[in-house]
Amino acid sequence: MNNKICLQRRLQQALTCACCFIAFPAAGQGTSLSLDCPEFSGGPGKPIQTVRYLAADALEGRFSGSEGEACAAQYIADIFKILGLRPAGNSGYFQEVPLASVMTPHAPVGVGRNVLGLLPGSDERLAETVVVIGAHYDHLGLGEFGSTGKAGAIHNGADDNASGVVAMIEAAELLSRGPRPGRSILFIAFTGEELGLIGSGFYTREPAFPLENTSAMVNLDMVGRLEGDAMILYGTGTAPQWEEIIPLANEGPSIPMVFEPSGFGPSDHTSFYTQDIPVLHLFTNVHSDYHGDTDDWDKIDGDGLVRVSQFTANVTRTIANWPTQLTVVPAVGEQAPRTGGGSEVWLGTVPDFTPVDFGVLLAGVTDGSPAEAAGLQKGDILIQIGRFDIGTLQAFSDALAEHKPGDEVLLRYVRDGRVLEAKTRLGDRADRP
Ligand SMILES: [Zn+2]
Repeated sequence: MNNKICLQRRLQQALTCACCFIAFPAAGQGTSLSLDCPEFSGGPGKPIQTVRYLAADALEGRFSGSEGEACAAQYIADIFKILGLRPAGNSGYFQEVPLASVMTPHAPVGVGRNVLGLLPGSDERLAETVVVIGAHYDHLGLGEFGSTGKAGAIHNGADDNASGVVAMIEAAELLSRGPRPGRSILFIAFTGEELGLIGSGFYTREPAFPLENTSAMVNLDMVGRLEGDAMILYGTGTAPQWEEIIPLANEGPSIPMVFEPSGFGPSDHTSFYTQDIPVLHLFTNVHSDYHGDTDDWDKIDGDGLVRVSQFTANVTRTIANWPTQLTVVPAVGEQAPRTGGGSEVWLGTVPDFTPVDFGVLLAGVTDGSPAEAAGLQKGDILIQIGRFDIGTLQAFSDALAEHKPGDEVLLRYVRDGRVLEAKTRLGDRADRP
């Protein structure tokens, strides 16, 4: 999975004409730009093949604004059409999203696309209200920004977040069969999530349905590695009705779940929760391939992904038929985390998002990182950096932001119930291997 393989493959494709050319409207113009996208494969009912298409080297890591991302957008729109969803963008299924932003200086000046498909509600009165199911489809491209892997290698993002897009597609298929729910359901594949929730933020400023008519947002981000563990469900404190709705929805798939009340987190549901919309974020936890160049399709748990899709369909149907609008509980948990930009300091820890009483549980450490030099390992719970206590992920990123590369810091962590200490010199994000 590296750039060379991709180039070889492209060359092969060119020689054998095994690819198809599709037309795609260029930003703000009537002209078309030809894209060299792989031939259609997968689609509804074929979750692993669909992950495989989206996470293929040929899409080059789906960086926002890139050709590979545009191929993914067209592919998702084609599937929405197969499913019979109505186009709900301002240009067919697409909503153009400007990517350059002051908040995210790393974003290229360019245009991404949200992809929107609608399943209209069956109830005359309720159909004016909508439940949003969202999943971002962009990823890190060649890993120049935000990577824990090798820069220059293709970052396929199979779990992050081809898995979420596929769960959305599978849920759409389940929901479009059988009795049509009362409320409308809007499916959105977001661009620009990895650059700082740009696509979902744009949607909430230019919504297809008024935000006050939006009952809830269900976010699918990294749902491909259930593997018999519990799923983490964020946002369970954002509406009192979740207490009744979630057990009803989980009767069939009966997935073990860990509930996290907060509606804020580093994904697209935050854009909706800050607009006072109840949210849920489904998440099968982080792993050592997170944001690396090894997050590939063959590591996806297909059976788990199907169960997550069933739960997604059930919970959405239950919200869509709920007799009243859900009531939001604003600002549960911590403040919204900063997105984009952020600290230039590099420690090299991979957080595990399983909640612990205090501290940040580690899913692993990056090879050659300051965290590795300090002897930190998977399973350690980091509780202090320098003079700062680290109770939560937010406190962790705040503490890093208080330091600069080259600072020598004390790390305090818990391993096997014992508190241990180590010193390390913080690195610079730009110098990651
Ligand atoms: Zn990500």
